[in-house]
Amino acid sequence: MNKKPDAGLYIHVPFCAQKCRYCDFYSFPKGEEFFEIYKNRVIEAIDFYGKRYARRYNSLYFGGGTPLLLGEKHLCDIMEGAKPFLTSDAEVTAEGNPGISERVDFSVLKNAGINRLSFGLQSSDERELSALGRIHSAKEAAETVKSAQKAGFDNISLDLMLGIPYQTEESLLRSIDFCASLGVSHISSYMLKIEEGTPLSKSELRFLCADEEKVSDFYLLACEELEKRGFMQYEISNFAKDGKRSFHNTRYWLDDEYIGIGPSAHSFMEGRRFYFDRSIKDFLEKPFDEIEKEESSGGGWEEFSMLRLRLTDGLDVSELKKRFPEVSGEKILENAKPFEAPGLLKISGSRISFTPKGFLLSNALTAEILY
Ligand code: SF4
Repeated sequence: MNKKPDAGLYIHVPFCAQKCRYCDFYSFPKGEEFFEIYKNRVIEAIDFYGKRYARRYNSLYFGGGTPLLLGEKHLCDIMEGAKPFLTSDAEVTAEGNPGISERVDFSVLKNAGINRLSFGLQSSDERELSALGRIHSAKEAAETVKSAQKAGFDNISLDLMLGIPYQTEESLLRSIDFCASLGVSHISSYMLKIEEGTPLSKSELRFLCADEEKVSDFYLLACEELEKRGFMQYEISNFAKDGKRSFHNTRYWLDDEYIGIGPSAHSFMEGRRFYFDRSIKDFLEKPFDEIEKEESSGGGWEEFSMLRLRLTDGLDVSELKKRFPEVSGEKILENAKPFEAPGLLKISGSRISFTPKGFLLSNALTAEILY
């Protein structure tokens, strides 16, 4: 019998010290007494899905929310629960907010098997941080990164946001320099989206956010300047030093399998996509198989193509044809050709990959190419 392929494990931790103004993730401030109950339920879920699918996980990602807010003890307990299912070389990432990390002993996390950290810096400009409602200063973020490095973490990612109120090209460049000077290995650079219902969407500050054209300029500037500092783009929003791409996140774009645990977490296993609702009550109180909600079947050629086109490695049409013989690869290549001269994509043999300019138009461009 063939050995089943390794999968990924995502654990959602929906707690934050304070809600940021722009945030639409399923997260909320909650008292520490709640952490123990949540941790125990997560460990039960790891066991439940570990037994159901009999898979080993070669990546584990604690996302949120603010997973580091749980503290070492609970995170180590979850790691203990996950260990029987993890491969020995698994990439294990924990997200954190640099404002709460001074409470964390990074060496304990390192010893427990966490080997990658991701901090939501967003900006090094104090006025921009305050407009976003972040609870940390740039100085605290620098101290957090240094303390993690001192504990032996050499794989650290920082988030940078584009289009923040007050942001200018100069302040963006300062933020990029700030990240580079800290010696981190990975940067995720996202555009701020004003989500309906968030405090930012109702505040005057929204009028200070950059317009679409300006954000596009920021994006192209970030791509260029990050590359100059050794952070090579490998996905629309992700940049890494050599060998430091996020293995876990890359599996989403390669359409690989993963289990998601916690309210709002999504899973893709054995051709089935399912998720848990944004309800911590259901997650804590109801049997897991009763609260799984079905998504579309997943794994089709369109999804495969769209996900690959997010990567700078792009879509290899011959690989697409091998997996989905019914698709006309020639037509896709023909459709792509007119966009090469204006610099929106590159075609190299049977491979189509977007340039940064193309990524800015990726939704429209993907539709033009695939149909
Ligand atoms: S720390 Fe992250 S998850 Fe928590 S409120 Fe802020 S943006 Fe949202």
